[in-house]
Amino acid sequence: MAEASLPVLMYHGIHADAHSRGRYEPVYSVAPQTFSAQLDWLLAQGYRSVLLDELRSYDTRGGKRVVITFDDGDVSNIEVALPLLLERGLVAEFFVTSDFIGSDGMLAPTDVRALSQAGMGVQSHGRSHRYLEDLEPGDLDEELSSSKRVLEQATGKAVDALALPGGRGGERERLLAQRLGYRYLLNSEPGPNRGWCGDSYLQRLAVTRGLGMKEFAGMVTWSGIGPRIARMRYHALRLPKRMLGNRRYEQLRARVFGS
Ligand SMILES: [Zn+2]
Repeated sequence: MAEASLPVLMYHGIHADAHSRGRYEPVYSVAPQTFSAQLDWLLAQGYRSVLLDELRSYDTRGGKRVVITFDDGDVSNIEVALPLLLERGLVAEFFVTSDFIGSDGMLAPTDVRALSQAGMGVQSHGRSHRYLEDLEPGDLDEELSSSKRVLEQATGKAVDALALPGGRGGERERLLAQRLGYRYLLNSEPGPNRGWCGDSYLQRLAVTRGLGMKEFAGMVTWSGIGPRIARMRYHALRLPKRMLGNRRYEQLRARVFGS
């Protein structure tokens, strides 16, 4: 029997349109009805949402597990996503960029604490959202340790997971993060996490605004053509990133996608 897959979903803001509260992004902002429909689909398929800490404990309940994550710390995370999760009995991990806390359209310090008190996970998405692989060792260390400290102070709980800003980083970032006390590392490479061992990166499935229900289902179950396209697209985009460097890649991307 094939090893079970572990879908880890990656959301950003949940916005009806460009006028919704928060920072609307044309590619990554998912509409509230779409988000609700995706959650309902997961429940109908027998998925149980888990926090990362549950991945290491021996699970006697069995069944299909899914990890729901949010990046950046948009205010819609608490205003829109949290109620929709709670009314369905679901949990999620919120990866917050600590410097963004309190800025326009983003979570306030009290929101970060409220998410944690509501039973959600609050984790690190770096301090400034700079791409970790671009940083000198000292700056990298500071990004990872200060964001951890700020978020731990905000929640009063341990912060032991890191999602790479922009999905960028590799072995150097993994080893340092683990040395600083992070136990879970997440990137943005699409994948089913089959055979995931606690030390390696968890792959994530980006949920984008244009993703239809059928494609969403294909990604979560890692079946059909969708996942292969997502992987090809991801690796095709990595190539110019590596050749141009992250800054020039972002300039190019901005010209192509207008974001
Ligand atoms: Zn991000």
